[in-house]
Amino acid sequence: MRDTEKHQGLRNQLVKLLQEKGITDKNVLEAIKKIPRHLFLDSGFEQFAYQDKAFPIGAGQTISQPFTVAFQSQLLEVKKDDKVLEIGTGSGYQTAVLCKMGAKVYSVERQNELFKSTSLLLPKLGIRPKHLSFGDGYKGLPNYAPFDSIIVTAGAPIIPKPLMAQLKIGGRLVIPLGEKEQIMTLLIRKNETQFEKHEFGEFRFVPLLEDKN
Ligand code: SAH
Repeated sequence: MRDTEKHQGLRNQLVKLLQEKGITDKNVLEAIKKIPRHLFLDSGFEQFAYQDKAFPIGAGQTISQPFTVAFQSQLLEVKKDDKVLEIGTGSGYQTAVLCKMGAKVYSVERQNELFKSTSLLLPKLGIRPKHLSFGDGYKGLPNYAPFDSIIVTAGAPIIPKPLMAQLKIGGRLVIPLGEKEQIMTLLIRKNETQFEKHEFGEFRFVPLLEDKN
């Protein structure tokens, strides 16, 4: 597993592109500059790693497009040591970006194959999320709640109620909502019962699937 000057150069170009596309959060851009995205893809696909595109990662899933990762991460407004819940660990790339930003990351994945391979990969890269969990993200992680913020990285037909319940007051939930195409949605929890909603245009994700059991 190598990270060379050439890879670093490609990452710097990617970061420039993300800035041109409107990403301004320094913390996000720094993290993307540092995380070797090519190591999250199968080795034959290295040359695609620093294009701003989603890519297949096995089990019918994809690693999100860098712009999407940056956009969602920016909406979270991560502060150091924030407790962040991620639904859809997938390749672990988004997890790694959040860890690099200083968050304490809890992440859930429902595909066992991906859960296992990503659980092995992240420590090899020196990335240590607080907790990786195999299970159904619709339920969140009640045992570790509440969270400062929650990020859903698959297209959700509805906002799962447990995720709203597991958000701190003042916390932010970033979730792409919709079946075929998704509207990036930010909910900010105002108090016990009220959430403020903001919408940010269309994105495309693989679906957030209900539990198989
Ligand atoms: N954050 C990932 C994106 C992966 S794509 C990355 O950076 O690579 C979305 C992921 O959500 C897939 O791995 C998919 O298996 C997972 N997923 C779908 N439905 C889920 C659910 N109900 N609970 C947890 N994970 C789910």
